[in-house]
Amino acid sequence: MASKLTGADRIKGTEKNIWVEFGKLAVENEALNLGQGFPDFKPPQHVIDEMVTAVASDNHLMHQYTRSFGHPRLVSALTKLYSPLIGQELDPNKNVTVSVGAYGVLFCAVQGLLNPGDEAVIIEPYFDCYEPMVKVAGATPFYCPLRPTKTGQVTSSRDWKLDPKELESKFSEKTKAVFINNPNNPVGKVYSREELQMVADLCIKYNVICLSDEVYEWMVYDDNKHIKIASLPGMWERTVTIGSAGKTFSATGWKLGWAVGPEELIFPMQILHQNCTYNCPTPVQEAVAGSLEYEMKMLDQPDKCYFYSLAKELQPKRDMLTKICQEAGLSPVVPEGGYFMMVNTTGLNVDFPDDGTNDPRDFKFVRWMTKELKLAAIPPSAFYNQEHKNLGENYIRFCFIKKDETIAAAGDILKKWSGSLKK
Ligand code: PMP
Ligand code: GLN
Repeated sequence: MASKLTGADRIKGTEKNIWVEFGKLAVENEALNLGQGFPDFKPPQHVIDEMVTAVASDNHLMHQYTRSFGHPRLVSALTKLYSPLIGQELDPNKNVTVSVGAYGVLFCAVQGLLNPGDEAVIIEPYFDCYEPMVKVAGATPFYCPLRPTKTGQVTSSRDWKLDPKELESKFSEKTKAVFINNPNNPVGKVYSREELQMVADLCIKYNVICLSDEVYEWMVYDDNKHIKIASLPGMWERTVTIGSAGKTFSATGWKLGWAVGPEELIFPMQILHQNCTYNCPTPVQEAVAGSLEYEMKMLDQPDKCYFYSLAKELQPKRDMLTKICQEAGLSPVVPEGGYFMMVNTTGLNVDFPDDGTNDPRDFKFVRWMTKELKLAAIPPSAFYNQEHKNLGENYIRFCFIKKDETIAAAGDILKKWSGSLKK
């Protein structure tokens, strides 16, 4: 008799996880870590103060369960923030829900909205968990890549485009949802209104739910503007917009995420959440609520409002990393948003050993770089399905939400290395 002391069939094939492997590798090798996306500096002081105040409060309820679908003060703050941005009068109880990070919200969306046998369209490169989440739900993913349309030593995420015909070919009458990540991780693309309209037209034509992951919504550079796809005509009723306190306030360990959308789509997510997590930590929600209220008072003062000041702080870091990569003979794709940079590594004639695995080139490259150069990155082919891994394997992904000295130290490593190659 076959052993029953095993995992469920539905998780088979989802064992590998880049964050687990490459996080461990960076720590074991004591490498300078431009891999996993987290800041190496503290959140703004007022955010920390909000948490301290919540925990030290005389109100004993601050330490107890709160409302399952989001602490009342938090959902109220989210409603105030997003109503004007989406162009809908949001109801805090019906149009907003929270979970454990954007991960938790994505899980509630996928499990709560997709049936086995449904199809989902995923735009590549995508945040890696979309694929296993869809498969575990019993649905079938179809993938459409953003393709680089320009070559050169320095290009822009703007040059990564969807082919409208290719995208439409992924839709069918079975398609229930499309995933879009704007600004995109790892490319940094910020979709133009025209590009969003093209995706929206397909959602409307095929009557599809749009899962719009906007965790980097405030991190946009130069003259780029982040547009919420939910604000386009005909999209509110079919869009779930996802955000993250960890990303918004540079506190990735706080693990609080939210979704905003029509009641018909938010309610199933709430049902899923109530029987899975029930509620998120009360003091974290209280602190995030207070932090959002603080920033909302500052919205017309971009120098003081963290939503804008963080992007202003990040842009020179992006430019510093671009220059470093360029000088080392690597080819960076300058991101319009987010805090990651794709860097093409094929310009350098580097000989790195085969590690004996069947993994794509970038996995081998990053493993080698982490061990030998003591510089950690993420292999972007992990953000593509098996068939399209070749589209990512000539790149590595660097994270630049780091202190200037960290980025400069990475520059020293890359300079030394590229200098040694020229000899
Ligand atoms: N979506 C994207 C695009 C991400 O990069 C991440 C990583 N933070 C998440 C979702 C998950 O966010 P959280 O840490 O809030 O769970
Ligand atoms: N979102 C983060 C990134 O892209 C990390 C997510 C994780 O560590 N699981 O780097």
